[in-house]
Amino acid sequence: MQHIIDRFISYVTVDTESDANSDTTPSTAKQWDLAHKLVAELKAIGLTEVTIDDNAYIMATVPSNVDHDVPVIGFISHFDTSPDFSGANVKPQIVSNYDGGDIILNAEQNIVLSPDYFKDLLQYKGQTLITTDGTTLLGADDKAGITEIVTAAEYLMQHPEIKHGKIRIGFTPDEEIGRGAHKFDVAAFGANWAYTMDGSQIGELEYENFNAAGAKLTFKGKSVHPGYAKGKMINSMLIANKFISKLPKEEVPEMTSGYEGFFHVTGITGSIEESTVQLIIRDHDSKKFAKRKKLVKKIADKLNRNYSKQFGGDIVEYEIKDQYYNMKEKVEPVFHIIDIAEQAMKDLGIKPLIKAIRGGTDGCQLSYMGLPCPNIFAGGHNFHGKYEYVPVESMQKAADVIVKIAELTAQKK
Ligand SMILES: [Zn+2]
Repeated sequence: MQHIIDRFISYVTVDTESDANSDTTPSTAKQWDLAHKLVAELKAIGLTEVTIDDNAYIMATVPSNVDHDVPVIGFISHFDTSPDFSGANVKPQIVSNYDGGDIILNAEQNIVLSPDYFKDLLQYKGQTLITTDGTTLLGADDKAGITEIVTAAEYLMQHPEIKHGKIRIGFTPDEEIGRGAHKFDVAAFGANWAYTMDGSQIGELEYENFNAAGAKLTFKGKSVHPGYAKGKMINSMLIANKFISKLPKEEVPEMTSGYEGFFHVTGITGSIEESTVQLIIRDHDSKKFAKRKKLVKKIADKLNRNYSKQFGGDIVEYEIKDQYYNMKEKVEPVFHIIDIAEQAMKDLGIKPLIKAIRGGTDGCQLSYMGLPCPNIFAGGHNFHGKYEYVPVESMQKAADVIVKIAELTAQKK
């Protein structure tokens, strides 16, 4: 177990925070530090076709050790960490044989990881947890995924008695800023399907995610001295407010769960002359997703009709852009890839937790780029903040799942 701990720590202590405000790939130069280290490590454990391109996308191969034809499968994770919280100077703490009580992350600042609040902790009693020191995130998202893939690849190279087909490995930058899949060369990867190792708790297996769109509405007003404004002034902020008040009040992130979609206002700017409203639209169901986009247009069009006479033209302009789609559509026709992953977990005594993602993954973009790509647990909890932690046993189990999937895929039917 020390080996997997050491490997994980060697990754999380390299700062790889990504930056949405940068146009380069990778978005931050420091991501190269870990990328180069990973390439050297993949070569050292004997993988073939180890490549890194100009954008820091890494690929490698565990060669097949059977004579019959086996589909090529891939495992993917990302090495950047979220800009939501600092990833510099990560000082991982190891809690052996966790007793089920409070974990003091930082005595000086009184930062405590407590099962009273984070109830999931209790399922890891007796296990070894890796936590932060309360001042940074941990980076288990998704360096746990990288650790598991490298560990599984190393194991397969050392155990030729385990029969498997060709296995491809892909590590990407910039997933946390939504660009992990953008420059992923699906053709060069050459897999029939793949799995991202980027889920949370042990057992997670996900192949459904939101359909997503973003909308920006601009409301135009007319500024007139308030003392002489009657019948002349149009206050764009009040029209923007009208627009928001027409959206279904209970269909917001804070009041929905499971398969319920939502409208989420993410930004407002305003003056009398001009206001803007930004929102995101989410729904697992593609028909309901289309309906939601239609509703935004309908409300805006109605406001235009109501005000067009007074204003002499449109008062609301809007732009709605699709962001990503539910991968379910691409995974359902090849459902055996879920069956194999589920079987692998069951064979290892792991209870599969299949649920719909309330967000997107790199895998959903890759699925629409021609590489069906469900998501498997990486084991961590409380991503993107100081309470992030990962049980070492979950990382080991995830590595075991990778090996088992490779084995099951190569079995002759
Ligand atoms: Zn992630």
